[in-house]
Amino acid sequence: MAVEVKPATTSGTTWVYMAEDAPAADRDLLGGKGAGLAAMTQAGLPVPPAFTITTAACNAFQSANKEFPQGLWEQTLASLHKLEAKSGRKLGDSANPLLVSVRSGARESMPGMMDTVLNLGLNDDTVAGLARQTNNERFAWDAYRRFVGMFGRIVLGVSGEKIDHAFDSAKSRAGAKQDTDLNADQLRDVTRELKELVQRETGSPFPTDVLQQLELAIKAVFNSWMGKRAVDYRNQFKIPHDLGTAVSVVTMVFGNMGDDSGTGVAFTRDPSTGKREIFGEFLPNAQGEDVVAGIRTPISISKMRELWPEVYRQFEQIADRLEKTYKDVQDLEFTVERGKLYMLQTRNAKRTGKAAVVTAVDMVNEGLITREEALKRIQPMHVQQILVPQFDPESRRKVGEPIGRGLAASPGAAVGKVVFDPDRSAELAGKGEPVILTRRETSPEDFHGMAPAAGILTSRGGSSSHAAVVARQMGKPCIAGAEEIDIDVARQTLSADGTTLHEGDWISLDGTTGEVFAGRISTIEPDLKLETELLTLLGWADETRTLGIWANADTPEEGTRARAWGATGIGLVRTEHMFRQEGRPPFVQQMILAAPEARLARLDEEAESTARAEGKTPPTIDPAVVEQRRRARREYLSTLDTLRGFQVGDFYGILKAMDGLPVVIRLIDPPLHEFLPKHEKLLEDITAARAKGQSGPELEEKERIFQAVSRLHEQNPMLGLRGCRLGILFPEIVEMQVAAIAQAAARLKKEGLNPIPEIMVPLVGTRNEMALERERLEGVVKDVFASEGVQVSYKFGACMELPRACLVAGQIAETAEFFSYGTNDLTQTTYGYSRDDAEGKFLGEYLKEKVLPFNPFESIDREGVGELVRIGIERGRKQRASLEVGICGEQGGDPASIAFCHEVGMNYVSCSPGRIPVARLAAAQAALGITPTDR
Ligand code: ADP
Ligand code: MG
Ligand code: MG
Repeated sequence: MAVEVKPATTSGTTWVYMAEDAPAADRDLLGGKGAGLAAMTQAGLPVPPAFTITTAACNAFQSANKEFPQGLWEQTLASLHKLEAKSGRKLGDSANPLLVSVRSGARESMPGMMDTVLNLGLNDDTVAGLARQTNNERFAWDAYRRFVGMFGRIVLGVSGEKIDHAFDSAKSRAGAKQDTDLNADQLRDVTRELKELVQRETGSPFPTDVLQQLELAIKAVFNSWMGKRAVDYRNQFKIPHDLGTAVSVVTMVFGNMGDDSGTGVAFTRDPSTGKREIFGEFLPNAQGEDVVAGIRTPISISKMRELWPEVYRQFEQIADRLEKTYKDVQDLEFTVERGKLYMLQTRNAKRTGKAAVVTAVDMVNEGLITREEALKRIQPMHVQQILVPQFDPESRRKVGEPIGRGLAASPGAAVGKVVFDPDRSAELAGKGEPVILTRRETSPEDFHGMAPAAGILTSRGGSSSHAAVVARQMGKPCIAGAEEIDIDVARQTLSADGTTLHEGDWISLDGTTGEVFAGRISTIEPDLKLETELLTLLGWADETRTLGIWANADTPEEGTRARAWGATGIGLVRTEHMFRQEGRPPFVQQMILAAPEARLARLDEEAESTARAEGKTPPTIDPAVVEQRRRARREYLSTLDTLRGFQVGDFYGILKAMDGLPVVIRLIDPPLHEFLPKHEKLLEDITAARAKGQSGPELEEKERIFQAVSRLHEQNPMLGLRGCRLGILFPEIVEMQVAAIAQAAARLKKEGLNPIPEIMVPLVGTRNEMALERERLEGVVKDVFASEGVQVSYKFGACMELPRACLVAGQIAETAEFFSYGTNDLTQTTYGYSRDDAEGKFLGEYLKEKVLPFNPFESIDREGVGELVRIGIERGRKQRASLEVGICGEQGGDPASIAFCHEVGMNYVSCSPGRIPVARLAAAQAALGITPTDR
């Protein structure tokens, strides 16, 4: 929300509010800290007197060349006088000095902002007054030396190292181990030395004028808003730069006044588990900064209960009250001065996914918030966090720093032995060893090594690279594009940060953070069944959402998992993954190698019969050629028959796992050469063999494959012979697949189950493509059912992944009963980007330079790709009102894209199984009209 920036000349603007009069609900104006102080004060809680200078004042200051806007200083002084009146002390009064803290606070707490200055108002006169006032000279000088150090560092910009060094050397000269060992005289000396240091460093004496101290501190807070760290942070998290920061000036209270004083921080509920119990730390006889700086180890808040039961009880009541006011877990700061409790801060607590879900569900049960509020409050990433294996925190601590970082491409922790080769991965994993497949990048041929790996690490590629996409679908942790890690596949080493790992060395990946660790960290497995609160929350989500949640799954195991997590259908079975399974590639290769000639044999026959029918003489072809083609056709059909046997089993398994739920099966899609050895590799092998004078059947076979691969070679396979084009040129392949689907369904039906297959034709772009495929394939289905003597309901539909398909969606819907938007390809073809090239070459730069505001392969591009989707749905449904519409691209698991799918009236989204709980929540949030903040 933009803050109204009033010109500096506007008179009559209220720039400063006393905590008791401030508009406590206006966090934009008062900042989080200021709003919290105001709310607590107005609720009658014990808060030291305070006032807040608004974020509007900060903005006015920025736009007026770093001058205070008119009226600001006068209002500050007036408010200061009110503080003085309340406390009966005066800033700068040597007899009875008032001290204050100056605290920054934007709407959201934000690293990079100025640190708080405590004890402002001390100088050589007031320190004496403080000593008399408190009857504690040591305390007064300790406060003074702290102030000089903080003010020197934070406001005057003297290096913190130099200040610490000066303090430490004074300590060692005094023979003091701890700060508390220094006596009043020694502290006085330290203070003098620090002031001298400041004077040397800044060229001016340390300011003794207390009002000047205040003015400088306020300006320093304002300036820190535009400091590099703060600006960088806002850029990264897309926080607007015109929010501004507020400045709160708070009467000092002292936790370091003896054993009946102390300071602490606490959460109203445990921020990591959500348990309903105050959780926090406490440090007796200390000032706030000591807790944060880790100078002394704080004790658990439960100790405070033993020490000061009365104070603790009061604190407990306050905590409860604040939670009820904010209806959320609070993160509190407090100080106890001589037995009296003061509240210094309250804000909504940051928490883990687990705690977020547990507290939201508990608060619904406590009647504090509604189910709807609970659903709105949980972020999709909270859900994600709960459902992946995580490092055991104990074990994680022991391993220390990560050796490198990459993109958090697929969440969860994975631990295993490094392997660099997919074959080795399959081999070791086959023996039950956990492995981490480590590659510069992965490609479809690596699949057999990816599937059994515990996790995947690549040094190249983005979060929609092959490795990332495949890993997410399998629910496997993956870190992609870890550029700082050098992966040398040839030498089988991985090195980063001075550490080199070899095959077999242990490595641990945190796919949730992108951190890579050398060594073995133990992990903790999630179990959805045990996550009672999450299940409750997702149950509420299911009641709220209107969008179906389906999964992309290729195996019965993935299907079963998806189902357990709440999927009510499979939106994409990629049949080609089945071709890559153990034992099948030789048959697939044989089939592909024979396909082109087999096709010619079919065409020969067709030409002959057409000629006969027309009473003409058939064309004459060399009988040897004819014979060769016929042989190829026989071979082709017989390998297809073998493959059909495999495929019946595949489809049987997945339809069975999804009994009673729809399963969208996509017919073969990728270019055929993807199933064959690489062109360059074959060429290399053959040349090498020839050079060595080798010959024989093996080499001949290689040469034959080489020629076939050369024939299939394409300039641009992504736009080449693939998708339904394959099915149209080589109908026997898809007929085999469809027959297998029908046979599997028939078998299940006979077993009393309820299979619901939906057959999807990929890469459809024209009316005729869809019509032709449906006509041919539906015949196959009917034949199978007729011969099996059963009826199973089925659908035929189109994978919508070409812009033309969206534009002529009405024509396609004439024969398509469903549309599934393949938004990976649709994004490629709409932008004209080849995804693999884009990610490797320019996408990163585009994102960095903000040429693209986000990655359209991760989150749907509403304006372009989305518009095509919208048009397609509209035109398709106009033709066929019952048209079922879903999405099966990677974006299907992305909350922002799910919101879009809801808006355009899709029936379901289909995502990787691991994303299903997130998608259930996101779909509910979409139904509640919440815009995801992920992007
Ligand atoms: P941060 O945003 O880093 O938490 P704060 O402004 O909350 O910064 O202050 C830092 C520390 O100083 C906290 O422990 C806070 O409780 C303490 N503190 C701030 N103002 C006062 C005050 N007026 N009296 C005593 N302690 C204070
Ligand atoms: Mg604080
Ligand atoms: Mg596609």
